[in-house]
Amino acid sequence: MLKISREFVHDVMRASQEAVAFCESGETVIFETRDCYNDAIIPGPKQPKEGEPDYANPVTGPLFIRGAMPGDQLKVEILDIRLAPQGVMRTSPTAGAFPHYYKERIVKIFPVSDGYMQFDEDLKLKLSPMIGVIGTAPETDAIDTATPYDHGGNMDCKKIGAGTTLYLPVNVEGALLSMGDIHALMGDGEVMICGLEIAGEVTVKVTVLHDQLKVPTPFLLRDGLAMTIQSADTLDEAAVKAANAMMDFVTKASGLAPEKSGMLMSLLSDMAVCQIVDPKMTVRVEFPLDILQHYGVQMP
Ligand code: CA
Ligand code: CA
Repeated sequence: MLKISREFVHDVMRASQEAVAFCESGETVIFETRDCYNDAIIPGPKQPKEGEPDYANPVTGPLFIRGAMPGDQLKVEILDIRLAPQGVMRTSPTAGAFPHYYKERIVKIFPVSDGYMQFDEDLKLKLSPMIGVIGTAPETDAIDTATPYDHGGNMDCKKIGAGTTLYLPVNVEGALLSMGDIHALMGDGEVMICGLEIAGEVTVKVTVLHDQLKVPTPFLLRDGLAMTIQSADTLDEAAVKAANAMMDFVTKASGLAPEKSGMLMSLLSDMAVCQIVDPKMTVRVEFPLDILQHYGVQMP
């Protein structure tokens, strides 16, 4: 199985980026990822090469998927997320919702085992591993890996975990998929500034969709729900964008008149904040898959 080493990281997603690995549509690939602090607090198994830049929020990749052409969509089935034995959190005196609480960065390392983190002596927290940054090359210029947008990127959506299917746009030949910034656990909002930041390995199956039903990317399937994930400069804008992405999809895919699809949206869709701490805000809107199936919609 193709495995992309944590040596191959970068921190800007761009169309002109050189691929570090190639695969076919339908192939399963493992991405070894560093934590968001570039493994600088908890040293990784391989030390950075001499002269290597100090990557911020590094992602592994990009992977070139043969046959992917602009206008296609990339289906990424997240099969497994394996975690390093410890993760790290760090306060921020300058960012997040609580900078006024901290005069300096306070760092804490937490051991992780058997699906739990040891928060303190007598408190264990159950983990729910997720991928913070996952995306394809953007349509326009270059987007740093701190920023979420229409290509995916730093969405920090806690629902992007093992057993889910993520759909991303293909803006350039090969799609150029990268990912990193695993969180072993994170709450909606990511309010302080980080999750339990951790290195790891993600196993994904990547499939190029040419002529199938188009979904509004980024788009996630999890637990019987379809989810739009949208990012914008403000939460208000991200909320309206995510709701409209789902409304457009439900209306078009079901063939319902907008008064009916709008009523269903208002009755059944749930909105949640993914994160409020990145350069753009991210909101998701969830809609039940069984209702879509009732109207004959089959997910690609
Ligand atoms: Ca992140
Ligand atoms: Ca992070």
